Amino acid sequence: MTRARILILGGTGEGFCLATRLHAAAGIDVVTSMAGRTPAPKVPCGGLRRGGFGGPKGLADYLGRERISAVIDATHPFASRMSQNAALAGNATGIPMIHIWRDGWVRQAEDDWCEVDTIEAAAEALPAHAGTTFLTTGKTQLHCFSARDDVAFLARTVAPVSAVGNIGSLPVNLSFVFDKGPFDLESERKLLAEYDVRWIVSKNSGGDAAYAKILAARERCIPVIMVKRPDAPQGLCVANADAALNWLDVTLGLTLSDMSAKEVAT
Ligand code: NAP
Repeated sequence: MTRARILILGGTGEGFCLATRLHAAAGIDVVTSMAGRTPAPKVPCGGLRRGGFGGPKGLADYLGRERISAVIDATHPFASRMSQNAALAGNATGIPMIHIWRDGWVRQAEDDWCEVDTIEAAAEALPAHAGTTFLTTGKTQLHCFSARDDVAFLARTVAPVSAVGNIGSLPVNLSFVFDKGPFDLESERKLLAEYDVRWIVSKNSGGDAAYAKILAARERCIPVIMVKRPDAPQGLCVANADAALNWLDVTLGLTLSDMSAKEVAT
């Protein structure tokens, strides 16, 4: 029987977990694709490729060349271009494709959120002389805050930005903490206190890995400028890795969803 070959478009914890589970399954080859912008990322089980495909056409060519049976788009909810490319390549090739589209965070009564559409709008929404503002929106859009020379920024990135290429002019008053998720509540509490954080800018990423800062902000009554998530990608979406495995079962006639995450973790 031909082995199924699954491509995971990775970059999230869900993608990593799926690679572990699929790698442990009989009769399946799994390959994870990463954008390649994070130095020394956690290496998933199975095959790994890094770097862009060259748009939807490049991805469609790759799917045919590599005889991919199905694609799971497990990129971050804000990685809309990759998700759109995946939808287009799926349509063009007829290769089954699904997006993992986790639920966004929902504002609770005790949360002080200002919701905006873009990072640029987040920079404008910060009040004058806002005090130390914690940017958790990644390294690529730090330049959006460069006009705010009245504000001291603390950005959390995985690696020093100088090591990952030109990202435009940075805010004059910017310091960094280098770390990658998942983040726990205790360390987020400590960080907010240590740096005397007065405002937070966050993307509404959803999921658990980055939610602790929202809980810590709630406790300390720190206002959050929350960047709304983009529209859901075109095509079939499921909320999590379990549902994606169920879909693979049905689509390819496999029996993956019987395998719990616990079984493969051992
Ligand atoms: P994007 O704007 O949607 O993607 C830009 C381009 O990067 C894509 O067109 C594609 O190039 C390439 N690319 C993105 N993800 C890829 C993947 N998994 N494998 C191969 N190529 C990929 O996405 P992004 O914001 O640059 O995000 C890049 C990666 O970081 C994604 O894997 C995402 O899951 C992860 N991430 C993003 C965020 C965020 O807030 N955006 C947060 C955490 C993690 P080609 O067109 O040449 O194929």
